[in-house]
Amino acid sequence: MAEYFHSVTLEKEKCRGCTNCIKHCPTEAIRVRNGKAMIINERCIDCGECIRVCPYHAKKAVTDPLSVMNEYEFRVALPAPSLYGQFGKEYSRERILKGLTELGFDWVFEVARAAEIVSDATRHILKSGKVRKPLISSACPAVVRLIQVRFPNLINNILKLESPMEVAARIAKQTVVSEKNIPAEKVGVFFISPCAAKVTSVKAPYEKKESSVNGVFSIKDIHIKLMEKMKNIPPDCDCELVSSGAYGVGWAGSGGECAALERPKTLAVHGIHNVIAIFEEIVEEKLKDVDFVEALSCIEGCLGGPLTAVNPFVAKTNLKCQVNRAKSKDFSSENTAADYQDLLWTKDMEYKPILKLDENVMKAMIKMQKLEEINDGLPGLDCGACGSPNCRALAEDIVRGLAFETDCIFKLREKVSDLADQMKAFEHIYRTKQDGSGRGKTNDG
Ligand code: SF4
Ligand code: SF4
Repeated sequence: MAEYFHSVTLEKEKCRGCTNCIKHCPTEAIRVRNGKAMIINERCIDCGECIRVCPYHAKKAVTDPLSVMNEYEFRVALPAPSLYGQFGKEYSRERILKGLTELGFDWVFEVARAAEIVSDATRHILKSGKVRKPLISSACPAVVRLIQVRFPNLINNILKLESPMEVAARIAKQTVVSEKNIPAEKVGVFFISPCAAKVTSVKAPYEKKESSVNGVFSIKDIHIKLMEKMKNIPPDCDCELVSSGAYGVGWAGSGGECAALERPKTLAVHGIHNVIAIFEEIVEEKLKDVDFVEALSCIEGCLGGPLTAVNPFVAKTNLKCQVNRAKSKDFSSENTAADYQDLLWTKDMEYKPILKLDENVMKAMIKMQKLEEINDGLPGLDCGACGSPNCRALAEDIVRGLAFETDCIFKLREKVSDLADQMKAFEHIYRTKQDGSGRGKTNDG
């Protein structure tokens, strides 16, 4: 597996070098050079902010094509809870799950059900008291990666439990193998995803060696096809595939995971820049009284994922309806994790510093001093016209040998002005000499 797999990529030919994206990237992972954006792999956390803000749709998330289903004998759909928020109240969960079977899946396992299992395991862990508080949810891979590259002090606060997607994939596969007697390699489990970060977490997992998911489809790719299929399914249909309660369905939106914990000292934050602000407060020990933090990269949580099909606020209203319905048929008490050891991460998370200037400490210190000197000489306007997100980032790029001081238009203007002055002085000297020699010639002649 490549060390830096990223689902978020740039379609170079569509990029106009407008610099919109560089200002929104939370990890300063984008530069515009020679009129085109470029993503610095080791900094990117696949949050998808750049997909949302690019006016030319030059950033995209790479997902699997639906045709990968053909490689498996038995196909299982794992719908993210956020899929339920993509349809109005006439589309019950039963109708949506049935619709998925019409799309070619042989079975559907709700990720919402696995979310309830993860919530139960989290309750056990919090109760044990053997954790560093506040415990930070690991449900959003973009947030986990953010901690990995920007908040090394918080690595030990991460809840080291597999995500609901991974838990669902594992249980679904085991169930099919044992109940249908089909070999594991012939069973394909496919996550229907609201975001690019989930794709990356499947292709390059940080919590274990290999993901249990065989492919990831975007909600956007499924949405219209599913809508078509549901037209032929009665709105009040029953469906034995429904297996999650209200808590699991509620996980799709901000505050859903906290609600499922049934504890008072929890905090839910959504939107990557708000998450950064909360993490800074945790580092400064301002949130000592909080037991658990649910931190989601997207506004309104997964309902606002970059690969969803409807506006997150509309999706929130839709989801409320699904949660209320789920309350009448509650499975939450069945989805438990008495022994949660199976759910624990099997890999340690290492800090991947993005700010380190050199492996050698002495060299790093010299480079840092140089960076400060260059930064002091820059205008401090953070205009982004140079293609770096701010003046300090440009200074860092110069030290790293990735940019020149003259990429700053103010510095360029200074240099041009200096050059013009030098030219003038040179011209003056030249003319004076010419005049002197000319006069001599005239007199002599
Ligand atoms: S996906 Fe997020 S971190 Fe990666 S380049 Fe885009 S905005 Fe930056
Ligand atoms: S909040 Fe949800 S949709 Fe957004 S990046 Fe995180 S996991 Fe993906």
